[in-house]
Amino acid sequence: MCELETSDVERGRPPAVQRRRLLQGAGGALAAAGLLGTGFAAPASAAPSRPANGAAAELILLGTQAGPPVEPDRMGISTALVVDGATYLIDCGRGATTQYLRAGLRFDDLKAVFLTHLHADHVADYYNIFLMAGGLPNSRDDVITTPVQVYGPGPAGALPAKFGGGQAPTVNPGNPTPGTYELTQSCHDAYAYSTNVFLRDSGIADIRTLVDVREIRLPDVGADPLGQRAPAMNPFPVMEDDRVRVSAVLVPHGPVFPSFAFRFETAYGSVTFSGDTTYTSNLETLARGSDLLVHEAVNVQGATLSPAFRSHLLQSHVEVQNVGAIAQRSDVPRLILSHIGDQAVRPINTARWRRWAQQGYDGRVHIGNDLDRIPLT
Ligand SMILES: [Zn+2]
Ligand SMILES: [Zn+2]
Repeated sequence: MCELETSDVERGRPPAVQRRRLLQGAGGALAAAGLLGTGFAAPASAAPSRPANGAAAELILLGTQAGPPVEPDRMGISTALVVDGATYLIDCGRGATTQYLRAGLRFDDLKAVFLTHLHADHVADYYNIFLMAGGLPNSRDDVITTPVQVYGPGPAGALPAKFGGGQAPTVNPGNPTPGTYELTQSCHDAYAYSTNVFLRDSGIADIRTLVDVREIRLPDVGADPLGQRAPAMNPFPVMEDDRVRVSAVLVPHGPVFPSFAFRFETAYGSVTFSGDTTYTSNLETLARGSDLLVHEAVNVQGATLSPAFRSHLLQSHVEVQNVGAIAQRSDVPRLILSHIGDQAVRPINTARWRRWAQQGYDGRVHIGNDLDRIPLT
């Protein structure tokens, strides 16, 4: 584990400056774009109030691995944002359910789940959380008892052509691009026998009442699953409660549609999650002025890749050597790398990665490891 300490610059930042940074963020962009609708109040009044009880906000990197291959040193991508004791999960990769507990979090504090996109490495443990932690209480008397909101992509609507040409098989051709809602319903159906037995034998909660899926509605910016998947756009509102205000943009992630980056505003500061993305100005627009940027990265230097595959990979991801410049342009003082993939060396050399990520960046870089805890301010 690694505790990041608040820098002198951060610690010494006067409240007025903190406030200004909040207002300069995604909310400000939203207001400028006229995208603030009902239910998503103007930033001047919508910043969640900071309680006087000393509670705080932190990030916990539950898993930091890029991609589905099972590796022993890193769990699948998943991050917990804890605000005043309430937990928000961003992606649910392999092992997220166990890591959640290892981090000392309680399932009955889980408020909402945000899925950046529906690649398996981001959703492998999504249904598991409800299946395993929504039934019988564990030894800590912890179980999900109230509905958890799930914000994720709707159906893509179309499949891309096969990389390299030719034909690929199609699973479930009658409905080959289910979104978050149908994914969840299908899991309910697939686990019906186990759930029905437990409902009769142990009196567990009906899992269907614990998952409250809300597919993210796209603004009308001309996005197309087979064309411009992430056209230039302003951030748009996704969710707001008494602790967080969440906005999003579309990001380009190879053939995947939709793929989101999220920004969370809290009373303690703001954090932007890149999701899986190659370079895009949309991410910089969203992240501008955040206190923290959690960004994905890959390394291809020293790797034996065909030019075609290398190009293919970099249409979906950002090279670690370029991520610092993104943070610099976004005016973000702290950069956290998670969703880490090195095509040449394993396990990754964090010292080398830190040097790479620092290129062109004046702020502080942290190369994420599983269960790292990072105070928001
Ligand atoms: Zn991924
Ligand atoms: Zn992905």
